[in-house]
Amino acid sequence: MLPASVALGAKQPLSSLAQVLGMTTPRMPVLFVGHGNPMNAITDNSFSREWARIGSGIRPRAILCVSAHWETRGSHVTSMPKPKTIHDFGGFPDELFKIQYPAPGSPQLANTIVETTYQAITHDHEWGLDHGAWSVLVRMFPMADIPVLQLSLDVNKSPLQHVELARQLSFLRTQGVVIIGSGNIVHNLGKVQWRGGSLDWAQEFDATSKKLIEQRDFAALTDYASLGSAARLSVPTPEHYLPMLYSLALVDKDEEISFFNETIDLGSVSMRSFISRSS
Ligand code: ZN
Repeated sequence: MLPASVALGAKQPLSSLAQVLGMTTPRMPVLFVGHGNPMNAITDNSFSREWARIGSGIRPRAILCVSAHWETRGSHVTSMPKPKTIHDFGGFPDELFKIQYPAPGSPQLANTIVETTYQAITHDHEWGLDHGAWSVLVRMFPMADIPVLQLSLDVNKSPLQHVELARQLSFLRTQGVVIIGSGNIVHNLGKVQWRGGSLDWAQEFDATSKKLIEQRDFAALTDYASLGSAARLSVPTPEHYLPMLYSLALVDKDEEISFFNETIDLGSVSMRSFISRSS
């Protein structure tokens, strides 16, 4: 028989609910995905094929996505049962605007996140799934049958404060939740080269980031503003970089980090992505 507090529907952190209900799962992977051009959602290319390959090897109970494309005051989590697909871009073909990603939400999981973080994260009932989430998920989990929540980026937080908030989400990894940061380590649209190639400073900062990730020097990556001119050009605004800090904050020290899509696209957009999982 369940304890009265559960039977009566009292709000409990998922960690304690899981102990009561025996729901603990093997530790789920954490990912950072460079999403790049929204057209990757409807293009069969090396990036989207990798997303499909990675997704085919994971079956989470739910997905929490930290997308570059949702900036707010305060940190919010989507709490609606049916998040809408948001086409938050312009100048792309109709085909892209027709894409729907009808994955359910999970008000129950949103509740757990809000309660467990002592309301450092609060409910949102308006957003949905922006292209930072669905352009990747439509390839990674094409059935759209796994609940998806988004966590916003609080514009008032410092990089270190984002890292500290991310660490509070670690418990989700043993509750069947895959956490995906979606952005780009190098992202400077003002310098995009439609003919392709890769700019020197973009290559430099992408390589520096790879080295620091391999060395587990997450403190240096958090203090990216001190990493010189290549960093300043690569991260002219923080929103595409910060999702990576969320993912890194959730990596355990004994885990292996595997890179994929290690390419600079359009001259100034690094598609470098990684997955971290227990061996
Ligand atoms: Zn983006």
